Amino acid sequence: MAMFIRVDIDPAVQGDAALCKALVEACPVDIFKSPSEGTIETVESNLDECTLCDLCIQAAPGKVQVVKLYREA
Ligand code: SF4
Repeated sequence: MAMFIRVDIDPAVQGDAALCKALVEACPVDIFKSPSEGTIETVESNLDECTLCDLCIQAAPGKVQVVKLYREA
């Protein structure tokens, strides 16, 4: 399955429980998970579900980047 985005999370988010929770709650397709309080990681198998809605970027401005890996036509 072709992955077409990558999500970069600023290391500063780790340890910020409120921000980790906000990210998990923001994404409509569960790309973020918080294995324990104050930690965040991406769910690789859900990355191709990303709708580019930018809700994660609004939840953590400047701390998350959704990088498009496909070529625009
Ligand atoms: S852009 Fe939307 S769908 Fe994609 S990771 Fe962010 S919140 Fe999830």
